[in-house]
Amino acid sequence: MGPIAKPVSPQSADAISLVDIACAELEELRNNPDSYPSFPHACKALLLDMDGNLKCVDCGIQNPEWAAVNYGALVCINCSGQHRSLGVNNSKVRSITMDHWNHDEIVKMLEGGNRQLETFFDRHSLLPTSDKFLVPQLSHDNISFMRYKTKAALFYRQHLDHHIEDLISRGPYKGRRRKRRPLGEQNKTK
Ligand SMILES: [Zn+2]
Repeated sequence: MGPIAKPVSPQSADAISLVDIACAELEELRNNPDSYPSFPHACKALLLDMDGNLKCVDCGIQNPEWAAVNYGALVCINCSGQHRSLGVNNSKVRSITMDHWNHDEIVKMLEGGNRQLETFFDRHSLLPTSDKFLVPQLSHDNISFMRYKTKAALFYRQHLDHHIEDLISRGPYKGRRRKRRPLGEQNKTK
């Protein structure tokens, strides 16, 4: 008697991960740039689940709803104003609740993240607590302004750009690869 064939059950909905759904949304967006009027739902859930993304990367206020797209980081409305004043070459600001997003921008957000940027700033002594910022007349706004006008910040956004270009050229987005070396590690200064 042959083995009894096990019935193959269709994959249940909860077996499909958030990453899978987000990747499907991204693929739709890649094929049709108008498929989502705003940041797609699963992509947004994934974005908010990333390390450090529940606080503004510049001032630490909770639940930031704006993005500094060039850095793949989330900022509060106040800090988004600072980013705007840096000019679009330094920082492009977008709302994660209201604006329309394209495929590449969303991938950039999912490959960036506040923790990654903070770690990078820490390595380059660009955290608000760094010695170079311990000048009495500097307000927090000045600090945000100063850190994004640095060569380090330029390096970070160029590196993120190249990484995204490379990733997108390899085909559909498959979620973040955890073992990647932290961005900018090769440029360690301490
Ligand atoms: Zn802020």
